[in-house]
Amino acid sequence: MLTRPTYSIVAPVYNEELVLRPFYERLKSVMDGMNDGAWELVMVNDGSRDGSLAIMEALAQQDSRVKIINFARNFGHQIAVTAGIDHARGQAVILIDTDLQDPPELIPQLAAKWREGYEVVYAVRESREGESWFKLTTAKLFYRFIYRITDVNIPVDTGDFRLMDARVADVLRQMREHNRFIRGMTSWVGFKQTGVGYVRKARYAGETKYPLKKMVNFALDAVTSFSFFPLQIMLYTSLMLGFLAILVSIVISGLRLALGPEFFGGQATTIVLLLLLSSFQLFFLFIIGQYVARIYDEARNRPLYVVASRHGFHEGEIEHAQPNVEG
Ligand code: UDP
Ligand code: MG
Repeated sequence: MLTRPTYSIVAPVYNEELVLRPFYERLKSVMDGMNDGAWELVMVNDGSRDGSLAIMEALAQQDSRVKIINFARNFGHQIAVTAGIDHARGQAVILIDTDLQDPPELIPQLAAKWREGYEVVYAVRESREGESWFKLTTAKLFYRFIYRITDVNIPVDTGDFRLMDARVADVLRQMREHNRFIRGMTSWVGFKQTGVGYVRKARYAGETKYPLKKMVNFALDAVTSFSFFPLQIMLYTSLMLGFLAILVSIVISGLRLALGPEFFGGQATTIVLLLLLSSFQLFFLFIIGQYVARIYDEARNRPLYVVASRHGFHEGEIEHAQPNVEG
């Protein structure tokens, strides 16, 4: 019979030939040192064009706990992590980058919190080393912005480095949306969550696979997956323009009463009409946006709810409830 490992480590790999071996060695010594049941390493090769795959295959050859999912092309970091979660069988699933920016040495602390009863333990970056001023500032702004506008509370300064209970992984497996923001999705799931602080190191070797363009797309995914804030801006702008139209007409009327009907002749009506029409148009765009948002909600097909536990039901009484959300 197949037994489930205690820990599954999920690591996405994209052109990381320089770091794979050191990553494996450090992870192995941490995991073996924990002495807390079996573990597996699920590596997802996200269409690497360097020698990454060959190194991964060599590692799998020498260690049967190493599993490889080899993508047909580059599908992106978040999809790679998703495939890893789909294939992970552990009672706890740990997401970690292969470039050693997320230190494997933090895993025992994450695991300790899990043993205390937390279902999600995310690693919080207390400081970051070896990254450009631009990356640091944009990341900081990005996390705070996301925190403000999203409806679920996505902790700030938190990447994908985290441990999640198998129950949380089960819910994530049911969330098949295409634009994925995994740290938001794990927050959305709920359960007891907590953070552990760490210093984010510089990349061990190689360079970031998140150039500006990917970062912008990633930010867009985050915003659109967890808030309708951009749509609400339309309503506020519409109301502002409408208010301005009223204000302008009152002011102009007042001035004309005081200074004579010639004042601002010919232009005032045009301006007021323009403001008013823009306001109407934006308002109806907002309405359309609301329908689009609802279609989007339906299309994502997330589970309606996630049950942490049930009481008072007997075997066979819950066949209409959402399946597979209770461990
Ligand atoms: N990665 C991936 N596919 C991609 C880009 C990145 O699997 O398209 C992996 C990469 O190998 C690394 C992790 O995702 O293990 C994080 O990427 P990176 O270190 O380049 O991002 P940064 O830390 O600079 O934000
Ligand atoms: Mg990195």
